[in-house]
Amino acid sequence: MKAWRFYGFGDMRLDDIPVPQVRPGWVLVEPLCVQPSVTEAQLALGIPTLAYDRVKRRLETEAPIQLFGHEFCARIVETGPGVTRFHVGDRIAARAKLPCGNCSLCRSERSNLCRRGPVIGFDQPGCFSELALLPEIALVRVDDRISDSEAACLQSLSDSVASVETASLQMGDSVVIFGQGSMGLECLQIARISGAGLIISVDVRDESCRMSLELGADHALNARTCDPVAVIRELTGGNGADVVFECAGGSPKQGLAGTETLRQAIDAARSGGKVIGVSWFGGPLELNVDLLRERSLRYLFPDISTQAHLEHTVRLVATGRVRLQPTITHVLQGIESVPKSFEITANKGLHQAINPAQVMMRG
Ligand SMILES: [Zn+2]
Repeated sequence: MKAWRFYGFGDMRLDDIPVPQVRPGWVLVEPLCVQPSVTEAQLALGIPTLAYDRVKRRLETEAPIQLFGHEFCARIVETGPGVTRFHVGDRIAARAKLPCGNCSLCRSERSNLCRRGPVIGFDQPGCFSELALLPEIALVRVDDRISDSEAACLQSLSDSVASVETASLQMGDSVVIFGQGSMGLECLQIARISGAGLIISVDVRDESCRMSLELGADHALNARTCDPVAVIRELTGGNGADVVFECAGGSPKQGLAGTETLRQAIDAARSGGKVIGVSWFGGPLELNVDLLRERSLRYLFPDISTQAHLEHTVRLVATGRVRLQPTITHVLQGIESVPKSFEITANKGLHQAINPAQVMMRG
């Protein structure tokens, strides 16, 4: 079968490799639609972000290796012994982080917090290939009302569900979301159906602001043409918002906001309010912790998403409560276009992409 393998940072090649052998509790799938996450797209180019050291070590000691491809929709073509919940022909998505099954966290039903289990696309091959092997334990069945393209976003959406759950919104809370990329727009829609009152979004791209209004923001501020913190204070009676999601930070080289939006997010939250840190910054940053202490701010990081979160995303999208289709701006055809999807996803601003660029694997 054909599979994309990495020989080093920035060096991916479409190789012919043996079909993996199905084993007990696992299924063999044919990937239908796959997208690189922003993190994967940056790592492929060797840009430091989450998991950089682990990927660098594997490339130096094990290359060529299959990397990435944990956001996908696939169809089951063979089931291993003992697989009971899924059948050949089922369309599935999966969560990326797997439990080890043996540690105290796994035994106490907090397996989402386990740090010993493998991660699909990092420790074991993901879906940038004609066939892939996946464990039944990670899978969720995709509802017929969800397209292959939308289903490829469910894994990322489950992280957004976990992020909004972390905020523990109270009915009518004012909510600000910095960054209207795919996760920002997902957090917006989930907050809206989870009791948010006034919703204000911030971005620097007009097309993202337009999309944000279409998907339910009351105000979409373009940070290039106004001082977002001043406008947010004005719109929230002078105090700032109850909850602020920071979804814009990251490497400026990739068109992300650096650390500036974190400072703005802190300034835009009311005293005693919450800042939910969704972004990855790719390195240490300077933060005035006394400012957080003085204003009793809660700087929280999203819970690690669970199987229940992933199953919830299926209901949210199947019933139209969360709309993904408008955010899917780039769909490429055929397994050969995988490198192009990485290039677009690593430079979404340049390509005016919102969701990562997807690949319909069979063309
Ligand atoms: Zn464990």
